[in-house]
Amino acid sequence: MPAVVEVRNLHKRYGGTVAVDDVSFRVEQGEIFGILGPNGAGKTTTVECVEGLRTPDGGEIRVLGLDPLRDRAELTQRLGVQLQDGQLQDRMTVGEALRLYRSFYRRPADPRALMAALGLTAKERTRYADLSGGQKQRLSIALALIGSPEVAVLDELTTGLDPQARRDTWELIQGVRARGVTILLVTHFMEEAERLCDRVAVIDRGRVVAVDSPSALTERVPDGQRIRFRPSVPFEDGLLTELPDVTGLTRRGDLVLVTGTANALNAVTSVLARHGIVAEHLRVDQPSLEDAFVALTGNHPTTGTGDADSPGAVHD
Ligand code: ATP
Repeated sequence: MPAVVEVRNLHKRYGGTVAVDDVSFRVEQGEIFGILGPNGAGKTTTVECVEGLRTPDGGEIRVLGLDPLRDRAELTQRLGVQLQDGQLQDRMTVGEALRLYRSFYRRPADPRALMAALGLTAKERTRYADLSGGQKQRLSIALALIGSPEVAVLDELTTGLDPQARRDTWELIQGVRARGVTILLVTHFMEEAERLCDRVAVIDRGRVVAVDSPSALTERVPDGQRIRFRPSVPFEDGLLTELPDVTGLTRRGDLVLVTGTANALNAVTSVLARHGIVAEHLRVDQPSLEDAFVALTGNHPTTGTGDADSPGAVHD
């Protein structure tokens, strides 16, 4: 089956700045595909090339088999793009915006159904300027979907939303995908990528450093698994350090700390059991997507769930 979005060796410069060096990925039918990376990694430039808003300096892009520049008119009918804040007139109401955008499409969705799905029905007559940040965000998603697109590109979907609104939006996007829409999602947020995306392309300094499912990315983290226990009887370090899945062993008092690959827990517990040793107070910490991100990019995001300028976001 042909990919819904195919990007091959994309290269884009702004003057002397290389924004996208060499980016390739494929998004399959029905996927929620994330583009994750630190500030300035080239994420927005990449999706703007996919949308036909920027002209690449090299490489090839196909969306639904179309060339975003040459076939722009046709693609506009089939690709939904989330508007950035400030692209709507302040005096326009929610209902007016949806009806206006509806008129641009051959097969538009029903504005009332979209308003209902996005919790905007009560705001139909509210002007854009009077909407809260979360309501503006939901309207931008509604406008991305008003043309009944086959593929939607959402850039910084939940930036500026509070944790509850963020979770509601994730649920909504899963519902959109369940209706058959393929979604390309740019995000700063580890939790968003982990919860929502089937696969993620991690982009760093204009290059793809990994493409995989969030769980497969975390499994690749060296020393990712951290196992802590109190052995019921003393044992020699070598019993565990000679296991291929174990990468390190330290002791703190009578506590043993073992690091290793995704299989380390199995390997450690079975060796201990074979020697009649009980691992008391056993605790296992799995690596997170954030650990994978740090391992892949060397960038240290802070933790939490704020907006782009608060904890949870990836910064330079
Ligand atoms: P962020 O997460 O901060 O939005 P990003 O990963 O989306 O970042 P881009 O916005 O694509 O990254 O920017 C990639 C690089 O290109 C950055 O160094 C940025 O400063 C530069 N850049 C982006 N747009 C322009 C432009 N219009 N003119 C000049 N340089 C630009």
